[in-house]
Amino acid sequence: MTTKYVKEVVINVFCDTRKVAQAIKIAVVVGTILNIINQGDYILHMTFDKINFAKLILTYFVPFFVSTYTAITISLDLKIGDRAMVSTNLLCKTCKTHSHVQKNDIIPQCPKCKLLGKWKAVN
Ligand SMILES: [Zn+2]
Repeated sequence: MTTKYVKEVVINVFCDTRKVAQAIKIAVVVGTILNIINQGDYILHMTFDKINFAKLILTYFVPFFVSTYTAITISLDLKIGDRAMVSTNLLCKTCKTHSHVQKNDIIPQCPKCKLLGKWKAVN
């Protein structure tokens, strides 16, 4: 996997409003649950002087980045039959056959290995 490929996939994930919106929804739900677990007594009794607001805000970032990281990891995987997120050269991990895919093209099977082949992005 090349750095250029990873960078392009990361940029694509952060530019995908559906994926970012989903990460925000997860952050709101999970972050709220984590804040209730961590500082629920202070929030419930409205003892605002005891609430650590830096921790409260940071708690929302954790599920956001976990969700985004998961979306990136899934997007990096070149699954046969999926649409390519970016244009890249392909190398079959099984038989070392080279191929190329353009952005939004369907990722093909390896012509030698068929469905048993697994692609890796290369320069
Ligand atoms: Zn192959």
